[in-house]
Amino acid sequence: MTECLFCKIVAGELPSERVAENDAAYAFKDINPHAPVHVLVVPKVHIATAAHVAPEQADIVGQMILLAQEVADVTGVADSGYRLIMNVGEDAWMSVPHLHLHVLGGQRLAGHLG
Ligand code: AMP
Ligand code: ZN
Repeated sequence: MTECLFCKIVAGELPSERVAENDAAYAFKDINPHAPVHVLVVPKVHIATAAHVAPEQADIVGQMILLAQEVADVTGVADSGYRLIMNVGEDAWMSVPHLHLHVLGGQRLAGHLG
């Protein structure tokens, strides 16, 4: 039995608010949203962080991006824009050690980069 929170969510052992999914990834609403749209896209297999993606898993990350596009469509932010964030490790405040892509949008986001 896995102790990983997001593995349990993917397996349906813990509840989540499903937004979309494809063969490789599952998208669900963040429990503590930081924007009107805040969805997490996770791989269905356990990968700890972006630093742990093996070369043969590169397609999974591509599938995560494709699912993020679908999330943007179904949540209505595809045209207004959105931010994709992947935290890695302590300094980035990563709190759940299962790879995840944050999809944030639905408002003008703070913290203009560049
Ligand atoms: P990070 O800080 O990048 O590791 O992001 C982890 C995210 O997971 C945070 O934004 C949390 O709000 C979110 N989170 C934690 N537990 C759950 C849960 N059970 N369902 C949905 N989102 C969660
Ligand atoms: Zn996991």
